[in-house]
Amino acid sequence: MIAGRGRPVYEGVAIGRIYVHTKNQAMAERKCSDIEKELRRFQEAKEKAAEELSILYEKIASEIGEEQAAIIEVQSLLLNDLDYTEGIEAMIKSGNDAAFSVHEIGAAQASTFAALDDEYMKARAADIRDISDRLVRILTGAEQGFRMDEPGIIVAEDLTPSETVALDKDRILAFVTRQGSSNSHTAILARVMNIPSLVLTDIDIDPSLNGHTMIVDGFAGTYFIDPDEKTMSEMVAKKKSAGEYKAGLEEYRGRESISASGRKVKLFANIGSPSDIKYVIDGDAEGIGLLRSEFLYLGRDTFPTEDELFEAYRSVLEAMSGKKVVIRTLDIGADKKVGYFGLAPEENPALGYRGIRICLTQKDIFRTQLRAIYRASAYGNASIMFPMIISVKEVREIKAFCSEVEKELHDEGTTTGRVELGIMIETPAAALISDMLASEVDFFSVGTNDLTQYTLAIDRQNEKLDAFYDAHHPAIMRFLEMIAANAHKAGIWAGICGELAGDLSLTDEFLRMGYDELSVAPSRILELRKNVISSEV
Ligand code: PEP
Ligand code: MG
Repeated sequence: MIAGRGRPVYEGVAIGRIYVHTKNQAMAERKCSDIEKELRRFQEAKEKAAEELSILYEKIASEIGEEQAAIIEVQSLLLNDLDYTEGIEAMIKSGNDAAFSVHEIGAAQASTFAALDDEYMKARAADIRDISDRLVRILTGAEQGFRMDEPGIIVAEDLTPSETVALDKDRILAFVTRQGSSNSHTAILARVMNIPSLVLTDIDIDPSLNGHTMIVDGFAGTYFIDPDEKTMSEMVAKKKSAGEYKAGLEEYRGRESISASGRKVKLFANIGSPSDIKYVIDGDAEGIGLLRSEFLYLGRDTFPTEDELFEAYRSVLEAMSGKKVVIRTLDIGADKKVGYFGLAPEENPALGYRGIRICLTQKDIFRTQLRAIYRASAYGNASIMFPMIISVKEVREIKAFCSEVEKELHDEGTTTGRVELGIMIETPAAALISDMLASEVDFFSVGTNDLTQYTLAIDRQNEKLDAFYDAHHPAIMRFLEMIAANAHKAGIWAGICGELAGDLSLTDEFLRMGYDELSVAPSRILELRKNVISSEV
């Protein structure tokens, strides 16, 4: 038995087989002795890749649409692109093995494309990488992508937001990572999915662990690999009692969230994608307080089309049957990187070109998203929320642009619903001028994750700083008090959608401040409602 520790980000006990998630490794130089044979292998790999692509094309065209399948066509053309194939053949002819040649030429051509100014050409870099990865996989006989055949526990160095979107969420029992932090997006995802998880563990990311049995104890922050009988029986008992506690929360399902003294608060859910709706329904959320739209842009090679976004938003609004859904416009940048946006590397990405700053300078991207939201608004109760606001000027520009988009749709004969416009208060600047901002919008939602990061000058992604990251810092408490007061003075509602909203030790305090809504991971709602109902405030 191997036992180890980590920082728990969601409680519970999981028992299952290990799936080690590794990243694409750099390839060491590989030589060949039979050049003719290697050229033939490359030719065969190209044929196999073409076959795979045509199957993929049919699948995407029938399941999603011809337009989305077009990307596969581009990759098929690349397979016969002379610059690409002749470059690879020249490397093979100078004695390199086929896989290494594909890897090197693919990487070189992809970085040439990535450096071009033209957005279309930039996006081709991802196609070259994709097709090269496919050829390397065929040539080396490696496994196809990361796949889970049965439920299991993912062990990884860390997972980027785009890696998490590609996972088969129904099969994940727990995450165990070496890196990450309590506020990282893997941690947030674990809480949405209601699965015990550990970050900052001391585990070795060794592929030989694949298939071994693991226990993750998200209460104690421990894990066990190949547990002995005694540990297994203790953990099975702990899992059972956690299940019983959860079952006990069922008595709070369907009840109004109102304290003993009559203070009402709405308990909403935070989600990342339409497929999270099942957690929202299971969790008994009264609405959605934060739909992190950027997840619709992650894990793909091209911008989502207006229709794709519209369908995603419509499905969420319809599933919520008239309950409020607060859609946040995309908050790309900082830790959420997307290749096809062509964002240049930055010294300080959290203070850089992100969120609303991208939307206000690349209005075509913003317009597509807003058109999709306004079109979808006819199918439910939609609100739009804008991230990373720092000034009244920005808010006025956003509102004018929203009116323009709405008018454009009406002129085209498209019906839209009534849409509230609100902002996230997640910068100290916005908190300090919340009195001025309140008269401009319909609601505030406090993003305590970023508000804490920017107020305390502590990078939320840097685990070395976790000891300094005091979520209850008096500066944050003062800001929270002030934001709610300023919202109410102007007659608008105020909520909290950062992770702090689910901190049960602060529920009384939030009720006292008068917050109208708390938006938390769906799995937290019943427990939070129990807290609200038993509060004396
Ligand atoms: C926040 O900053 O608190 C927030 C809710 O937004 P995100 O975590 O997506 O940055
Ligand atoms: Mg934020």
